[in-house]
This record gives sequence, C-alpha cells and structure tokens, in this order.
Amino acid sequence: MSLSEFDLIKKYFCKEPDKQDSSVVLGIGDDCAIIDVPDGYQLLISTDTLVSGIHFFEDVDPYRLGYKSLAVNLSDLSAMGAEPKWISLALTIPDVNMLWLAQFSQGFFDLAKQYNVTLIGGDTTKGPLSITVSVQGIVPRGSALLRRNAQVGDVVCVSGMLGDGALGLAYQLSNGKLYLANAQAFVDKLELTDPRVKLGLLLRGSAHSCIDISDGLTQDLTHILNASDCSAQIDIDKLPLSDALHREIALGNVDTAQATQYALMGGDDYELLFTLPRGVLKRVQEAIPELKLTVVGSIIAPEAEKIQLRKHQKAYSLNLSGWDHFKTGSY
Ligand SMILES: [Mg+2]
Repeated sequence: MSLSEFDLIKKYFCKEPDKQDSSVVLGIGDDCAIIDVPDGYQLLISTDTLVSGIHFFEDVDPYRLGYKSLAVNLSDLSAMGAEPKWISLALTIPDVNMLWLAQFSQGFFDLAKQYNVTLIGGDTTKGPLSITVSVQGIVPRGSALLRRNAQVGDVVCVSGMLGDGALGLAYQLSNGKLYLANAQAFVDKLELTDPRVKLGLLLRGSAHSCIDISDGLTQDLTHILNASDCSAQIDIDKLPLSDALHREIALGNVDTAQATQYALMGGDDYELLFTLPRGVLKRVQEAIPELKLTVVGSIIAPEAEKIQLRKHQKAYSLNLSGWDHFKTGSY
C-alpha cells in the first residue's frame, strides 16, 4: 500500500487513549511496544484470527466485526481470570475503504474502551480480509484459571444463557428458511457478545477450572474433562435458555430437542463454563447479581463416557442426526 494509504489507516487506529496507561512505556510508532508488567503479576497472551468467509460473512456489518474481533479474544482472557490490558491488531484488507475502516475501528475501540485495554501495535497488509488480534492480560502470580484442575464433586456451572448465538448463526445460514419471531435478538448475541471479563476476575481463587464456550458446551467441557482426567454428568433440563428462545419454542419455530442441541452443542455463546465447590458458588453469584450463573451438572470420577447426559435424573441420549450439517460453516 502507498504511504498515503498507511496514513489514512493510521487515522483510524493510532488513537490516543482517553486515559494514558502508565504501563505502556512505548506504544505504537516504533518497531516494538514496551510494556511494564507490574511486579508480582504474570502476563497471559492469546491470539485469534478471523478470516472472511470462514469465521464471518463477507458482508457482515463492519462495526460488529470490529467489536467481535476483540470480544472473542477478551473472552479467552476471561476464561483464565486475566485482567485485559493490551492488544495488537494485524489487519489484512483487500482495499482501503474509508467508511468500512471507520466503522470497523469504531466497533473495535468501543469495546476496548469499555474494558480499558490499550492498542499497542499492529500491522496492515493488502490481501483477502482477515483480522488477527493478540491480547495480553495479567493475573497475580499463580492465580490463572486453568482447564486441568476440575475436582470430583465440583458443580459444573455456566454463565448467562446458552444456544442463542448458535441459533443466530443458524438463522443467518438458513437464508430465510428458518423463521424466528425475534431473529435480531439471536443475531445480536452472535455478533455483539459481551465477554465475561468481570466474572473471570471473580472466579480467580474460587473456580477449580474454567473455559469459555466458543465451540459448544459439550466440546469445551470435554477439554476440561480431558485436562483434569475426570467425567461429568450434565442435566439437560437445567440448561439455561433465554426468554427469547423459550418464546420461539412456544411459537413452534424451534422445537425443544433443537433448542437443547443449540444449548449443548452450538458455539458462539462466549459464556464461561467453570467448575467449583458448590458452597463457593453463592459468594460468586452475590458478587455479580446482574449475570445469571446456573449449575448444569457435576464432576464425577473418570469413566469411559466423558459426558453423561441426564434428563429429570435419568440417563438421556441425544439424537444428533443433522447436527454435523448445522456445524458446517461455523462462525
Ligand atoms: Mg477459549
């Protein structure tokens, strides 16, 4: 790209933060950024790439794309109990579309501001649209939440509601074939998901294990179970479904079995899935009353079957026919 194009891009991304972050010794403008990590803290780093046509629709609203590019990364930090601090952004764009860049950067910075994170560097290249965000956060030494410490007897909990993001994606992929009375609510959950930063911080020192639900409850829970060498019982009648999803069920637009599949196996919820002693949950819940936390099962000793589903306390098996088709093209 020509120098003037770089200057234009600079206009949208090299913003002075409202509040100077004193930990940033040197931000954008040199070959590297220099950061002071506070004494007694560890740095946590995560990177995610979103590619056009694979992770998002080519015509997705650029504001929402900018927002989500950062949100999915902040979600990973939350899953480990980290306080988000710094981000870098590598943006590959096919051409310089000023309106697109203005909206994309607005979505990105609106969320960055909300969580007080500072853009410290990045790169811009010409090519097929793709976005790589790297986030860095901090935790007091040794206090990060890991996948590997789930204990037999822990309850398995989730934040928020499950299945809405997956239903939003199913709606978009259906090209009008799926009718929903309130489709926008599900698309909003898919595209404007709120990373559970505050909950991640509260779970430090309380939860034994934690992960964010990006690929679906069963798949992400399996990561915890494998890392912790245990199994889990999940009560599907306890899965938290939103009022919007309950309404679609009542209207006959989504049947109960489908709703269960969205909640259990749909990705894109970006809620936290965590395990902890039952007695500790109340204290966490009281500290964050605005976010519903739900016990959906418990950790048990390792068995051949990693996840045992139950409905009304009886063994339950899910009919998964058709599910793989739905998963194709996951956002
Ligand atoms: Mg994750």
